[in-house]
Amino acid sequence: MSAGSTPLMQQYREIKGRHQDAILFFRMGDFYEMFYDDAETAARVLGLTLTSRNNGGAAEVPLAGVPVKAVNEYLRRLVQQGFRVAICEQVEDPKTAKGIVKREVIETITPGAAFADDLLDGRRNNFLCALHAVGDRVGVAAADLSTGEFRLATAGAGSELDTVLSRFAPREILVPGNGPAAARRPRVDEALVTERDAWEFDPALARDDLADHFGVLTLDGFGLGGGDDAALGAAGALLRYLRELQPAGLPQLAPPRLERAGLTMPLDEMTRRNLELVEPLRGDVAARGDVSGTLLGVLDRTRTPMGARLLRQWLLAPLLDRREIDARLDAVAALVEDALARDALGQALDGVRDVERLASKAAAGRATPRELGALGASVARLPEVERALRRLAEGGEDDASRGGPPPNHTIAPAARGTSTESPPAVPPPLDARRSTLATHALHRLLAAWDGCADVATALQDALVDRPPVAIGEEETIRAGVDPELDELRALCAGGKDAIAGIQEEERRRTGIGSLKVGFNRVFGYYIEVTNANRHLVPDDYQRRQTLTGAERYVTPALKAYEERVLTASERIEARERELFEALRARVGGEIRRLQCVAAAVAELDVLASFAEVAAREGYVRPVVTDDFALDIAAGRHPVVERMMPREKFIPNDVRLTEDARLVILTGPNMAGKSTILRQVGLIVLMAQVGCFVPAARATVGVVDRLFTRVGASDNLVRGQSTFMVEMSETSAILHTATARSLVLLDEIGRGTSTYDGVSIAWAVSEHLHERIGCKTIFATHYHELTQLADELPAVRNLNVGVREVGDQILFLHRLQPGGADRSYGIEVGRLAGLPDAVLARAREVLHVLEQEALVDDERRAASGERRGRAGGRRTPRSEPAADQLALFAPAEPHPVVERLRALDPNALTPLQALTLLAELAERARG
Ligand code: ATP
Repeated sequence: MSAGSTPLMQQYREIKGRHQDAILFFRMGDFYEMFYDDAETAARVLGLTLTSRNNGGAAEVPLAGVPVKAVNEYLRRLVQQGFRVAICEQVEDPKTAKGIVKREVIETITPGAAFADDLLDGRRNNFLCALHAVGDRVGVAAADLSTGEFRLATAGAGSELDTVLSRFAPREILVPGNGPAAARRPRVDEALVTERDAWEFDPALARDDLADHFGVLTLDGFGLGGGDDAALGAAGALLRYLRELQPAGLPQLAPPRLERAGLTMPLDEMTRRNLELVEPLRGDVAARGDVSGTLLGVLDRTRTPMGARLLRQWLLAPLLDRREIDARLDAVAALVEDALARDALGQALDGVRDVERLASKAAAGRATPRELGALGASVARLPEVERALRRLAEGGEDDASRGGPPPNHTIAPAARGTSTESPPAVPPPLDARRSTLATHALHRLLAAWDGCADVATALQDALVDRPPVAIGEEETIRAGVDPELDELRALCAGGKDAIAGIQEEERRRTGIGSLKVGFNRVFGYYIEVTNANRHLVPDDYQRRQTLTGAERYVTPALKAYEERVLTASERIEARERELFEALRARVGGEIRRLQCVAAAVAELDVLASFAEVAAREGYVRPVVTDDFALDIAAGRHPVVERMMPREKFIPNDVRLTEDARLVILTGPNMAGKSTILRQVGLIVLMAQVGCFVPAARATVGVVDRLFTRVGASDNLVRGQSTFMVEMSETSAILHTATARSLVLLDEIGRGTSTYDGVSIAWAVSEHLHERIGCKTIFATHYHELTQLADELPAVRNLNVGVREVGDQILFLHRLQPGGADRSYGIEVGRLAGLPDAVLARAREVLHVLEQEALVDDERRAASGERRGRAGGRRTPRSEPAADQLALFAPAEPHPVVERLRALDPNALTPLQALTLLAELAERARG
């Protein structure tokens, strides 16, 4: 019989047939084996040795295996490279199995559907998205299997969709394999695109499936009653896919929530990238996962993984509703004010682990004893969290922080996390200053607080203090929890005494004083006798093992005893497993409550992180209004300021009002234009996220969109030229921005000829000013644009100043009114180490160009021509094309010079000389 036709291989082929698109990890004892193509792929990707299985027959089957103990590391590498892996387990005990052990695929792991810690980054979500297009709307369903989050959104096809997707940053995207949406492949870097049959996206089917899965009659409660077919179709396909990957069920998956449009600000990818919100612009740094140079890096002082994940979500979804923003700001203010409560909260949060993911694991029946222990210890910290929250929300202080006698309205001790206990009656706070703080977000959290104390109690009562990773290694269940378990343990423990008894008895019987009773895994219990005493061994001793210097024996009595003990320890393990699984199921049954409290903890954690950063970095609470104006006094760039010694960063004021809404920002290279531009964007974004801002004072009129476009960023990967990308992004801004938007443009139009560039920049500014009327800052090297201020009423010129000291320049980084007059590009070139010869030549060329521009101006002035007028419309001052001509003009001598060169003065009469002179003068005048 060949290897390929053994019953085992038949079973393999049958299972593999149902999982063609995945690498099948086929459990065989302590290994997962892969066969045929899977083995070859795995050997190549994982660097495993490829062997072959041959049960004595002719056909050899390629084979590769990984040990069960190390499986997660191999899974991580496969999944990271976009492979899907089906895990096939032995689902019956090999000892009792009749014939071949039954095996089943218990889950399929894909980049978007992963559970194991090794496959996940604790500080960010792992979303799987499904897309379904209906007309020009695309429904997006996003789920994170590890946390149970399930969200739905809809977006216009194209850039709006890209914006939504970039917020979820999915690792995998489901699209219909045929049908219209397939043509609109989403542009998400590094996501695996998985095609599914188009019928799976059917909204009617989805409606039934969702209602059935979540046990509801209608989907109204999920915001899906309105017949949103796009979102519904996507949600249905996603659910179907996840069920297929996780046949054991999806108890952790929360009911889907349709995000209402207009609650949060969509941030397009370029804005997110240009402002370096969650990843640095430099690709190599981003690839290392280093976030230190990003806003996230500065603001992340969260203490729990849930908090870290929520912070990332918040930064990518600033709020639009002023009251919602204020609710967060109120909470941050309360946390900033009460440093003691903040500290207490921080300490309580420090002991809280990833409740969200641990609870998901418990619900899915995957949590190990150690993980369940960690969940218990975390939930047990919640009363402490609640105590700090209560103090903050209610504005009270406890005795210690007051330092005086206890006031008669001190906050009652925390209600030990029970949701049933009614909150203590708290009179209004005495402190008038505090009472002005409407700590809405904290009130909300407190009102809905359910610390799941019953879960903590159940876990802590049942589990030992440090449960093992797996059942059986050490004790998992505490003594006193289960009489049966206690009895078995007593039997086992009594066994130790019994051993000592047997040893004594045998020593007496044989007269061998050195006789020992021992245990090893192979032979079980034995009696060891040294060679010197061998002659004293009685007849009923049966020899089992010979060592140098000793013999080992068993006796029927010892065997009988062994039988009793071993069954007892097996039964202990079985009983512990039973009790543990029941406990896990019970805790898993509380998944919704645990998810709620995890979400509350996450929110508190983020708010506390904002407060901690605000206190440490000297941020202030922004005044958020529904007005147009943006007024920042002494604003700083939160990331750049941290890269330099304290007080080295120069703060700047920026004020944009309806009457002065478009700023043309000029200034030499390296002066700090981009920094100011980005700092304005970041301050507005931080304010709308509900965070304090790096400024002395700030009033922020809520903006509906924030756009940043930084010229000449490299986007060749997408197969478009730099300029093309720049123009399509600019075009997207002009089509989408409204009067309530903030547009930040840096060096638009630089990717083409100077003439075209200036013209485009000019026209874009006019459009933003005239047609859209939004707040705009345009940083540019085109000094020509400063003339817009003469032409358009709400345009202002600002420049970032430098001072010349000898032939050196000093960067002041200070914003001042007016346009800049020079670029100092050559000086920056010198700082960057351009060779001296190149610098000297550059200075020469610059000099020529400047002279020509001067001559040009004078000529125009003399001829009475108004500078910059063309067809009644003002155009930029200098004519760059002429400059360029001068630069590249061949060194051809002037005709007058030619004539002079050819001349022999000695051959001329005085009259001829005079006439020639007049003629040359005439020609020279042109
Ligand atoms: P370019 O026109 O060459 O792109 P830029 O005017 O946009 O230059 P930035 O990139 O904003 O200049 O700033 C250059 C450097 O100057 C920054 O990396 C930072 O180190 C420093 N800098 C900018 N603004 C400030 C400031 N306000 N205080 C102190 N240093 C600053």
